[in-house]
Amino acid sequence: MGVGALYVHVPFCARKCRYCDFASKATRTDDPCMDGYLKERIAELDRCQRLGMLGSCKTAYLGGGTPTFLGATRLGTLVSRIRMTCPNLTEFSCEANPDSLTDEVIEALCGAGVTRVSIGVQSLDDEELRALGRIHTANQARTRVQAAIAAGLDVSVDLMCAIPKQTDESWRQTIHEVIALSVGHVSVYPLAIEEGTPFGKRYGDETPPWNDEDVQAQRMECAERLLTGAGLHRYEVASYAREGKQCAHNIAYWTGIPYLGLGPGAASMLDASCYDSARRLYDWLPPRPHEASRMRFSTLDREVEFLSAREAWAEDLMLGMRLTRGVEEERLDAVPDTRDDLLARGLVERDGDRLIPTHDGWLLGNELFAALWDLHQQS
Ligand code: SF4
Repeated sequence: MGVGALYVHVPFCARKCRYCDFASKATRTDDPCMDGYLKERIAELDRCQRLGMLGSCKTAYLGGGTPTFLGATRLGTLVSRIRMTCPNLTEFSCEANPDSLTDEVIEALCGAGVTRVSIGVQSLDDEELRALGRIHTANQARTRVQAAIAAGLDVSVDLMCAIPKQTDESWRQTIHEVIALSVGHVSVYPLAIEEGTPFGKRYGDETPPWNDEDVQAQRMECAERLLTGAGLHRYEVASYAREGKQCAHNIAYWTGIPYLGLGPGAASMLDASCYDSARRLYDWLPPRPHEASRMRFSTLDREVEFLSAREAWAEDLMLGMRLTRGVEEERLDAVPDTRDDLLARGLVERDGDRLIPTHDGWLLGNELFAALWDLHQQS
């Protein structure tokens, strides 16, 4: 299997949000390091092309940071170069923030071949946006979503729940408004308070009432009710889509398709033959042990993980249970005790020839995923 999905990390933002621990740096739009970044990625893509690594790649994803902060010219160049290197793409997504998704950027994205934008809206309440440290307003978010749809792009909106200032009513209002905007895809996440962020420093180990576990669960359930009621089907723990609008790139992550990550904070997961090519791209990658069947590495900390065939199998089961469609039951034929235990605990249920996660299975996701991952230790 060749590389099926390409991720390119763009590590720049206009300002750091108060909850963010992603690898990104706040900078100015005219910072010359963005040109240096572009040169490096183009050189990497050239090397990938010479190595024949991306010919069968089906999906590409520009993530961040804030890819749209690169501006129309740089972004257009990067997207065109990716398109040339990956001639068989069926989906090309780009993350965007409302403040930098200008008309010029939308035009550049469409012109160069992006098919889908994932917009970091988070909330449609100005007070909540300010509390998160976001630099856009709710109105900017509304108009930029509309502009992207009008340009013919598939639009996904990211929303965040269990955030400061949010109430049940304001959360419902945000979701209703997003539905009214007619987007094809919505992702919903509870805010995680991460160490080292301004929120992490302020709250330490304490859980503020707005981020309480019950609040998170209620808001996620409310989102499910409203979004599915409006025809956006939940196909993954945090993802809802209208028919045909699921994100193929993210599905690749959850179904064991090998992916390559380029850029300073990217992760890769490759099979043996792709890994051998990647070693010619990154000279810091060590040789793979003979028995390894799956390789994971991160360009951020240069950590490499080798998985045996058994570990890769357990990982695929665990990731498959993030999806509503679950996994084929026969894949657990070799471990009937675990299968029966998960069924008895109500964490999964049968759906034809598949085992799918139940509502409780997702609510108690850590238990379900841990039980499947633990299978790698059983012989
Ligand atoms: S825009 Fe996104 S990546 Fe940038 S600081 Fe905010 S949350 Fe982090």
